[in-house]
This record gives sequence, C-alpha cells and structure tokens, in this order.
Amino acid sequence: MTLDFLGTLQRTHMCGDLRPLQEGEQVVLMGWVNRRRDHGSLIFLDLRDRSGITQVVLDKELSPEAHAKAESARPEYVVACTGTVRLRDASLINPKMDTGAIEIVASEILLLNDAKTPPFSPAEDAIGNEEVRLKYRYLDLRRVEMQKNFRIRHEVARAIRNYLSDNGFLEIETPFMTRSTPEGARDYLVPSRVHAGHFYALPQSPQIFKQILMVSGFDKYFQIARCFRDEDLRADRQPEFTQIDLEMTFPQQGLIFKTVEGFLKAAFKAAGIELEPPFVQMTYDDAIRKYGIDKPDMRLPAMVELTETLTPELREKLRIEPALPVLGFIIPSVGALSGTERKKLLSEVRAGFGDCGLDLLDTERLKTSPDFAPLAGTIAELLAVGAEDLSVVVTPKLGTPPMWNYDPQWIYKRVGQLRLDLAKKYADKHGLFTQTGTAADYKFLWVTDFPMYEWDEEKKVWNAAHHPFTSPHEEDIKTGKLVNDKGAVRALAYDIVLNGTELGSGSIRIHRKDVQAEIFRSLGMSDEEAKERFGFFLDALEYGTPPHGGIALGLDRIVMILAGASSLREVIAFPKTAKAIDLMVDAPTPVSDIQLRDLHLKVNTRT
Ligand code: ASP
Repeated sequence: MTLDFLGTLQRTHMCGDLRPLQEGEQVVLMGWVNRRRDHGSLIFLDLRDRSGITQVVLDKELSPEAHAKAESARPEYVVACTGTVRLRDASLINPKMDTGAIEIVASEILLLNDAKTPPFSPAEDAIGNEEVRLKYRYLDLRRVEMQKNFRIRHEVARAIRNYLSDNGFLEIETPFMTRSTPEGARDYLVPSRVHAGHFYALPQSPQIFKQILMVSGFDKYFQIARCFRDEDLRADRQPEFTQIDLEMTFPQQGLIFKTVEGFLKAAFKAAGIELEPPFVQMTYDDAIRKYGIDKPDMRLPAMVELTETLTPELREKLRIEPALPVLGFIIPSVGALSGTERKKLLSEVRAGFGDCGLDLLDTERLKTSPDFAPLAGTIAELLAVGAEDLSVVVTPKLGTPPMWNYDPQWIYKRVGQLRLDLAKKYADKHGLFTQTGTAADYKFLWVTDFPMYEWDEEKKVWNAAHHPFTSPHEEDIKTGKLVNDKGAVRALAYDIVLNGTELGSGSIRIHRKDVQAEIFRSLGMSDEEAKERFGFFLDALEYGTPPHGGIALGLDRIVMILAGASSLREVIAFPKTAKAIDLMVDAPTPVSDIQLRDLHLKVNTRT
C-alpha cells in the first residue's frame, strides 16, 4: 500500500464539530480510524480526533477511488477525508454521538499513515493490564476517557492560574536544581560534573524559595510547581507531582483560606461543580476528638463522646476502665443485621482490637437487661440512632493503658479508624460515598492549630510536625511553651481536607531570626548544623523579612477527584509505576562509563 502525501490540504473542522446546521458544506477532516465497517459497496470509517468522532461514508458508486483506499484503511491509520456533510436518515441517527445526526459523504480520502495492529484498541475502555497501558502510553492517551481527564486538568489549572493572577499573585519559577529542602522525604540528587562529589537536589517543594520571594518584596507568589520526593510509592503518590504553591506577605490565616477557597471554587466550576465556600473550620484537637483523625471524612457522622454517660457505677458493673474515653458512632442505613451477622461483626472488630484493651459494648444485649436498658436508651439517643443504622460503642477494658506509644489520644484515633473501616465495609448500604455529580459530593474542611512537635520515642527527640519554618502560635512563644512544654505548642499550620483526603497543607511562617534559631535548636539541630543546612536562609531573615505564610495543594489529586479517577496515574500524562519506573521510555537506566566518569561517580551495586 502506498501512503499519500498531505500536499496543501488543510483541515476545516475537528471530528467532533459538525452538526445538522452544516448540511451540504464541503469539509476536510483529519484523524485516526476509530473503527471501520465494510458493507461491500459501502464502507463506514469512524474518524476520531481529540474533539470526537464523525462517521465517514465511502460509496463505491460515488467515489470508487476513495472507496478502494478505504478498503485498505485499518484501525489507527491516519486519514484525511474530503467530503460533504449529509443528514442521516431519522432511523440512523445515533443519539449517543454528538455528531450522530450527520455523516460525511467522502469524495476523496488520503491515507496519511498506516499503523501496526495496536496491543489494545484506543476505541475501547481501558484494558486491565496497566503495564501494557503505560508501555504504550501514547495509545492509552488516545482513549476518550484519558483525553477527557487531561482536558479537565488543563481547565482546572487554567482556572486556578487565572484566579490567582486576577487576585494579584505573580507566577514566578523557582529552580529544579537546588539544595536539599526540608519536607522530610528523601531527595533526588543530581551529580555535578563541574564540582566533583557535589550534588544538586531536586526540590521537594519550592518552600525556601517562595519564602525568600516574600523577603524580596514580591508580596504574592504562586507557581504550578513540580516537586520531587523519593518516597515509597502508593497508588496516590508519584515521585514527581505538581503542587499549586503559593505564598503571601502580611496574611492572617483567614486570608490564605479565602484565597484557596476562591481558586478551588473557580477550579471546580471549570469542571461543572458549584462549590459554596467558606468551608468548615476545625482545630486539630476537635478533629481528633470528633473523628479520631486529622483529615476527617465529613460525609460520615462524627463520633460521640460517651465518657460521662458511662458513670463510675456503670463502669464498675460493666468492667470498664475508669476515666478513659468511651466513644460511639453510627454507620447509617446498614439495615438490620441477623444474630449471626451481628456476632460475626463483633468478633471481627474485637479481633481487630487485638490486645490493645479496647472492646465493643454490645448495646443490643444491654437492651434486654433491666439494669442496662436505660443506658442503652441514653446511648441510642446521644448517637441519634435511626431504625436502619448500625451503632458502635467502644469501651476500654479494665487495665487499658491511657497512652499507647506515648500518645494520649490513641483511643480516639483507634475508634476513628474503626469508623472509617466500617463505613467502607458498608459503603453499598449507606451510599454516602456515591458520586451524585453535584457540590454535595465534596465535603471540604480546614483543619487548624496542628501540634508543632511530634515526639519520636525511638530517638527520644521532638520532631517538627511540619517543616521547620512553620510558626508556633505567638501566644505559645510568649508563654515560654517552646522551651517548657513542647507537646502543648500549637503551630499556625493548617490542612485543607476533602472527603477524608488531605489536599494540601500550609502555615504562617517564622519571620524572625531569633524564633527560627530557637525552633532549630528545639529540634535538636545545633547552630552549626542549622547554619550549614539553611545558612543562606537564616541570612535572608536578617534583612527585613515580613510576616508571611502560604500553602500548597496537590494539583494531581484535585484533578483525580474531579475526573472520578482511582489513581494519580490516570491524570498524569507520563507517570511512573509503583516501582518508580517509566515503562514507556524505560527509565531509570544504567548510563555509560564515560558519563559516570564525567560525573566522578562509580557504581557499587549492593546485593
Ligand atoms: N511546602 C509545603 C508542602 O509542600 C507546603 C507549604 O507549607 O506551603 O507540603
């Protein structure tokens, strides 16, 4: 088969453009053969480009030459078609296609390129084998669903960029080749050829640069920034990912929230969802007490504190540890469980608790005992249990430790986890995770006042719960807690959470050198070490640093949620696998000895 040259032929429309209004027009379409149906003297080619699909008809009688060419066309061939728009007969209209009311009667076609039989058809839904999809990513990306995902990604990014630009933010790029940044993951390193034994680090975030831009007086900065973190991968993590990163001068926390709410509203609008900010705000302590987690899923009812309800007398009778929390919650609409189902559930949950000391209070059994029926009634009332709801009450057995791994909130967290596990188990019943396509699907929340420090029991040190540029509450500095009571220091740090997923986090930063030095010291970093790692930044703090703060949100994750995708790989054009491999380009690879020598490196493979 000989291929045709394009010559001077110019496309007039995209394949998804044409409608009955264009009846009779002469058009030129170009695209890929999505499907070919050969009915002898009539051949139908579905021509596809990113905008959609148009049916092209080749009639042997009308244009024998074009018909003959179409006989050799195969799926994924690249074709140009000249023809006339014709209305389809009423009986042949395809309501599922945007162009389903018309077709093109071709007078000429050009076969611009052929194609091997692809390992899977871009005309079909995704195949199950993701490795094959990633290896032939160019074919996978041709699929309608992927084209849709990247359109959403583009629209969302554009809406955010426009919103921030319209609100006084400047987009400024920061370097990829830099030095280690303190986000807490492992760095990707780039060896220097010019400076033997020296390495650049790829930025885990533009954190220090954006703060320096505030020192430089840019006032409001943003960047849709690539970040690199060498972490163990999960379905929702990638070694390189994109953040909507911003920083502003002289903000109160509320101004940052308003800015983020504004750009999220614009971004969701671009995807057809009308959000209604402001979002709910909740302190970290409240989140733990009510949801047992710092990223509450607000689609589910909160936990209810029953600690006071279980009076000392009742605790004694029921062999419940005094003073420790008793927590309950409901999972809505689970429906009545049979006796066997209920027993199975109780033993599953008890097995899950292991020997940590927690137990379930069998409220169904309490109801049948005259002594405890009133308690069962009170609990049902406090939990607002509906007829179809499953109620769960967790109690600490006698001897349960108040702290677990030095964590006094462990019971709240353990019960919070159970709440999520059971909500997942009964998702089909309660339907609260089912997308309805409206703003009601998206429960946003700000979590504020995180603790400043986390205790590392193994190393016996306090670690910064965030990066070490996060400012403590001014109150907690003034009252000396930084030195005397680290566990109680609150950070001016906040997360934005959506449906139980952390979308982003940020903080008001430290702008004073003395406070910054104190924080480094309190993290066990000597002045020398701080100078060695962040000297340039400490220097910058000495030249009139204004109060400033910011946040970064994961763009990939936002797009993933809006596209209804199950993995970040569905919304990143060329992602890596769970083993950090790019299967299409086959990276990483070994490099030549010459390259290694230039970089002053020798590879010593550990087995
Ligand atoms: N740099 C932080 C991060 O990437 C976000 C911030 O504090 O703005 O998590």
